[in-house]
Amino acid sequence: MAERKIGFIGLGIMGQPMVANLQDAGHTLVVHDLDRDRLHHAVLAGAAEATSPREVAESSEVVITMLPDSPDVEAVALGSDGLIEGATRGQLYIDMSTIAPQVAVRVADEMCERGVRCLDAPVSGGDVGAIEGKLSIMVGGDEATFTDALPILRVMGETITLCGPIGSGQIVKACNQIQVALNLVGMAEALTLGAKAGVDPEVVIEVLSGGYARTRVMDVRGPRVIRGDFEPGFKAKLHYKDINIVMQSGRDYGVPLPASAIARELFGAMLAAGRGELDHSAILTVLEDLARVEARTD
Ligand code: NAD
Repeated sequence: MAERKIGFIGLGIMGQPMVANLQDAGHTLVVHDLDRDRLHHAVLAGAAEATSPREVAESSEVVITMLPDSPDVEAVALGSDGLIEGATRGQLYIDMSTIAPQVAVRVADEMCERGVRCLDAPVSGGDVGAIEGKLSIMVGGDEATFTDALPILRVMGETITLCGPIGSGQIVKACNQIQVALNLVGMAEALTLGAKAGVDPEVVIEVLSGGYARTRVMDVRGPRVIRGDFEPGFKAKLHYKDINIVMQSGRDYGVPLPASAIARELFGAMLAAGRGELDHSAILTVLEDLARVEARTD
């Protein structure tokens, strides 16, 4: 694959291993993050440092962002000293953050006016998928831009799907986050009921994982949550952000999402209890509090 000069902004739980995989594949990286320690870590691993998104755009053929939320992407792309100020015609911009579909469309429209080719390409697969380069990547944009980006996306992901025009990647990601949230709530309710009735949580996991109730959420997170291991992974505050995007999308398209609305309130309760930095699987603690029981093995 041809080596490319890639700018990468957002070196968090996901961005840091994605950068490492791009470097391992032979690409040259220019990186930026507000967090000095994370920036320093990437520079030690061989990336060049840029002091602003504008500088990233000025020194890259391809720019990737992996930022927390819609306002972060808007500020980095369109704000003062933003990507748009350093953008060149024909440049490729791939936003891999999970943000509101309407914001993805607005940012792409403005970048497009400067001649930048844009894709929205949110991911699923978590920190493990990012480390192993096995993310599922859902892409919105035109086919020619998608084809150009594909060799780069293949370094970071395994299942890469063009879902439709700009914004479609974010719509599919919203669908994904409904499914994950409801699976997490289902697992939490099952473990809590079992525990209150005196059944060992390990037995609940073993039995459910052997039948129709088996889920990837339980495969990956079940054994950890019953040990009380809520190290993120995917922070609860980010899933709350995503479920709010889900609810807004439901309103925009006139789709009632009653189960998602309940999940939203449960994640809201988790944040209100000061647990937003924990892994989203710690939604279990909210159900435990309601039932006054601990569904743990210890
Ligand atoms: P994170 O909080 O670990 O990392 C975000 C990084 O962005 C941080 O290093 C932060 O300093 C940096 N940042 C924030 N604003 C910035 C700005 N204006 N300029 C430069 N840097 C800035 O988050 P994460 O878990 O890596 O998630 C990133 C995105 O990926 C989010 O949209 C999230 O919803 C999505 N996502 C995460 C996971 C996961 O398992 N963690 C899975 C799928 C999707």
